[in-house]
Amino acid sequence: MRVRIARNSGFCFGVKRAIKVALKTSKGNHEIVTLGPIIHNPQMVAKLESENIFKVDKIDQIKGRPTIIRSHGIKKEILEELQKNNIEIINATCPYVSKTQDYAKSLSEDGYDLIILGDHNHPEVQALRSYVDKEVMIVANADELVDKQFKKVGIISQTTRRVGDLQELVKKLVPKCHEMRVINTICNATTIRQNSTLALAKESDVMIVVGGKNSSNTKMLAKICESFVKTYHIETACEIDRKWFKDKQDIGLTAGASTPDWIIVEVYNEILECIGNINKVDNIEDIPGFKEE
Ligand code: SF4
Repeated sequence: MRVRIARNSGFCFGVKRAIKVALKTSKGNHEIVTLGPIIHNPQMVAKLESENIFKVDKIDQIKGRPTIIRSHGIKKEILEELQKNNIEIINATCPYVSKTQDYAKSLSEDGYDLIILGDHNHPEVQALRSYVDKEVMIVANADELVDKQFKKVGIISQTTRRVGDLQELVKKLVPKCHEMRVINTICNATTIRQNSTLALAKESDVMIVVGGKNSSNTKMLAKICESFVKTYHIETACEIDRKWFKDKQDIGLTAGASTPDWIIVEVYNEILECIGNINKVDNIEDIPGFKEE
């Protein structure tokens, strides 16, 4: 039996950056808050409380404390309200997300009907939508636009979608419009993680996907794996059931862009425990990685 991890599992650039900014700001016991979870990982959000970084859900809970803007941004009107209330803002929005917001705005200002490939309820998409004054269509796929025709259409995507889904949307919309402008706003970190996970899933008998149940990119990794192999999406090692590994030879492990290394290491060690392997590790770098042939 062997356990292998997908390349690039765990924290992406934007998440690392947001956490670094938060820790730097809270250094010296300054209490700070994040409006909404700083990243979509409940265990990391809970851990950050010991560093004086607290999550609040509403502006009236901020109570004068400096406020971190999370990696996936916040709605324009909320940002304006914070400014109006003279709240100190530390912007940890990922530059790729900010760039996507700029694209949304400029496409709309240039007269394109804007379509966002994404999840209506995801905070990133809600924030993105708020930067456009006109009507915006948020769709999970082209089937939601069956009866529509467009003169000028602009297409962007939530940063964590699949490139294949964007291609499919574009393909289906070409016959329905006169002019189309597509900006691929899917983040490279997302694509890299999806590709390595896909390659590993194809070569595994079971996949363990680690990350927040509220994490869009982790859910997408689980969805990708499910099309090939039995997949379990877990947040922590406690959820593991040793029965999952019965009669399995190749166990694959992957983690979303918001999953901290210590959780991945705990999960890996728990899998080893279940399969009777004593070679536990202390660092993520020590977990055997999967390399494509
Ligand atoms: S997944 Fe990409 S866009 Fe999102 S925070 Fe990470 S680097 Fe930024």
